[in-house]
Amino acid sequence: MKDLSTLWKAVLDKLELTVSNVSFIMWFRPIKLVDFVDNKTLILAANTTSAKNQLSRNYFEKLSSAVTDIFGTDIIIEILDPSEEIEYINLHGDKNDNKEVNVSKNPFNPKYTFDNFVVGDSNKFVYTACRAVAEHSGVKFNPLFIYGGSGLGKTHLLHAIGNYYKEYFPSLNVMYVTCEQFANDYIESLGSNSKNKAVLEFRTKYRNLDVLMVDDIQFISKKTSTQEEFFHTFNELYQNSKQIIITSDRPPKEIETLADRLRSRFTSGLIQDIQHPELETRIAILRKKCQIEKYSIDDDVIEFVAERISSNVRELEGMLAKIHFLANISNKDSAGMEEAYEAFNGQLEEEKNEGITADDIIDTVCSYFDISRQDIVGKRKSKDVAEPRMIAVYLINEILEIPLISIGKIFGGRDHTTIMHSRDKISDQLKTSHKMQGFISEIKKLLSQKDEK
Ligand code: ADP
Ligand code: MG
Repeated sequence: MKDLSTLWKAVLDKLELTVSNVSFIMWFRPIKLVDFVDNKTLILAANTTSAKNQLSRNYFEKLSSAVTDIFGTDIIIEILDPSEEIEYINLHGDKNDNKEVNVSKNPFNPKYTFDNFVVGDSNKFVYTACRAVAEHSGVKFNPLFIYGGSGLGKTHLLHAIGNYYKEYFPSLNVMYVTCEQFANDYIESLGSNSKNKAVLEFRTKYRNLDVLMVDDIQFISKKTSTQEEFFHTFNELYQNSKQIIITSDRPPKEIETLADRLRSRFTSGLIQDIQHPELETRIAILRKKCQIEKYSIDDDVIEFVAERISSNVRELEGMLAKIHFLANISNKDSAGMEEAYEAFNGQLEEEKNEGITADDIIDTVCSYFDISRQDIVGKRKSKDVAEPRMIAVYLINEILEIPLISIGKIFGGRDHTTIMHSRDKISDQLKTSHKMQGFISEIKKLLSQKDEK
C-alpha cells in the first residue's frame, strides 16, 4: 500500500497539468490532506473559506477526476474550511500529525456551547450539573465526574463550561486537557534535561489552576506514575476548593487498575452519567446541527437518520454531513431521501431481510384476521382492522427492524409517532394478555412456514 501523502502528491502533480498555473498556486497547492476515512472519504482542508468555495464550486470536477485517477475507486471528497478543519481535528485527532493544531490561544471549540447542546431525558441531569458548575451556583459539585459512551457529548460539555468561564469569569485560570495530554506533559517533564526544573514547572502549571478539566480519564489506568502525579494534583486543587471536572467512558469503579485512593477521590463528588439520546432528542440534535452548519436537509431525512443511528451523536452528525455533502456536489439546494439512501448505501443493503419482507408480514396478518390489504393500510379505525394493523406494525418493527418512519410510509403515510404508539401498545399488551401472546406466536409460526418455502 502506498503511503497517503505520496498518493496526494500524485494527485497534485496531475492537477498541475490540467489547471492554469495561477489556479494551481492559488487553490490547489495550499490544500492540506487531513484524513482518509475507511479508504473512501478523503478529507481535505482549504487554506481559506473562499478557497474552499472556489474549489467546491469551480474546480470540483477536476479535483475529483484527479483523485479518482490516482486512488482508483469512487472516492468521496470533503473539503473543509479552516474552522471546520480545527473542529475536525478536535473531534478526530490530527491523523497526519504533521503539525500540532494551535489550541493554546483558545482551547475551547466555539461551537461547543451550552446553547448548542440539546437537552433531553438522556442528558438533563448532567447538563444541569455542568451548568451549575459553570455558573458557580448552588452546591458546588467537586469533583464533577461525568461518564458515558463515546460520542454522547462529554467533550462538548467540558468545552461548554470552558466557553462559559471565558465569557463570564475571564479572570479564572481554567485548563482543559485530555488525560493523554496530562500524561505526556508529565512524562516530558520527567525526561527533560533539567528534570527538576521541568517537573517543578509542570506542578506550578497544574496546581495553580482555578479549574482543571481532564477529558477521558479512563486512559490513566495504565499509567502508574501519572496516576501518582494526578493524585497529588487533585489533592492540591481540591484542598484549595478549586473545581475539578473529569470525564470518562465508564464509571470509576469500572476503570481497571485505578489506584483505590484515586477511585475514592473520583467518587467523593458528584458522579453523573450520560445516556444514549432518545429519538426526539436525536431529531432535535440533527435540527440544531442543520441550523448551526446551515445545512438544508428535508425533515423526512432528519427523521430517517435519527431512526437509524441511535447510540452515537458523532455518527449522527457524520451522516448528516455526508448527506449534505452529497446534495452539495449534485448542486441541490436541499438534501432529500435520494441522498439519504446513497449515504447509507452499504448499511441499508445489510438490513434488507433476505427471507421475510414487510409485504409478507402484512399478507400473513391479513389472512390470519381475514381482512383485506386495503383495510390494513387504510384509515379505518374500527377495532377489527385497527388491532391487526398495530400487530403488523409491531411485527415489522420487531422482525425487520425497519425504522418507524419507513413503516409509517408503508401504512399510508402515517406519522412515526402513531407507528411508535402502535408498536408500544402491542408490546405492552404482550406482557399481560394471553390472547395477544397467542396472536403473535401464531402469526410468527405462519411466517416461518412461509420463509421455509
Ligand atoms: P464524547 O466526548 O462523549 O465522545 P463529544 O462531546 O465529542 O462526545 O460529542 C460528539 C459530537 O456530538 C460533537 O460534535 C457534539 O457537539 C455532538 N453532541 C453530542 N451530544 C449533543 C447534544 N446533546 N446536543 C448537541 N450536540 C451534541
Ligand atoms: Mg470526548
